[in-house]
Amino acid sequence: MRTGENSTETLACLILDDPLLRPRYGCLDYERLLQEMREHGFFTEIAFIPWNWKRNNPKTVQLFADNPDYYAVCVHGCNHTGNEFGGKDYQTLSALAATALWRMEQFKRLTGLSYDPVMVFPQGRFSPAAMQALKDQGYHAAFNSTLQSTAGNEIPAIEYQRPATRIYHDFPLFLRRYPKSKSDFLQDIASGRPIIVVEHHGAFSNGYRAMTDFIDWVNGLGNIKWTSLSSITNAYCSNTKSMSFDEKSDELVWSLWDQSKVALRRFACEFRDNYVEPSSILTRIYRTGRGHVTGVDDY
Ligand SMILES: [Zn+2]
Repeated sequence: MRTGENSTETLACLILDDPLLRPRYGCLDYERLLQEMREHGFFTEIAFIPWNWKRNNPKTVQLFADNPDYYAVCVHGCNHTGNEFGGKDYQTLSALAATALWRMEQFKRLTGLSYDPVMVFPQGRFSPAAMQALKDQGYHAAFNSTLQSTAGNEIPAIEYQRPATRIYHDFPLFLRRYPKSKSDFLQDIASGRPIIVVEHHGAFSNGYRAMTDFIDWVNGLGNIKWTSLSSITNAYCSNTKSMSFDEKSDELVWSLWDQSKVALRRFACEFRDNYVEPSSILTRIYRTGRGHVTGVDDY
């Protein structure tokens, strides 16, 4: 159970995966979301792809700087390629984890915004070696939509009852859920776990009402405090060690060819998010042809 001034308080956070910090990303409008957060009382953490560190809009950056009680940023992969943190090779994973931090440090230097040193795994895929790499690089925790690693190991039932599991190299892993899992959220509150919600920009394709109805439902369940992933991590994991940022890690470890492949992939994903998904007709065409599209991953 979480300890604190009020033991009946439940911490909560909404995580949105992938967007850059620009006025609009696909169906997401940051100004509009801020209005909704003020009105309905919730907090959003952007799972930010480190590869995008220098591609943000100053106006949106300022919006984040002005509203630390509503918006925060954390780390979402490094290049956001398929199965990026699902492999077994520790050295590769360690380089990815370090490069992601280096890029986020550049993001911080450029924008003046801090970030939460916690990882949200792309596509929900991670290996036990990835957890070791994150721990060694000084991350504080990971958040994922499953506790199951790519190693396919059995997860003891008790691990789902804890706020965070530490079965992977004693590094905390929190479970996050989509809004449809209402009965699981009730169980989270009953068991003293935080409420960690995941969505993507497409959740706002028909407006913000579906999300705010869900938020209102959560807020009616008890003493809910919406906050950042760092606050949630600090509340449950008291021994988070400080960052061991390695100045030598930088983008030069990636070959020009690798960087080009990553860039093509990101631009393809962004085209899908910004032009295809907001249009229902294009989405149908995209889904029909998706079997023939390679390199564009799902979140
Ligand atoms: Zn993603």
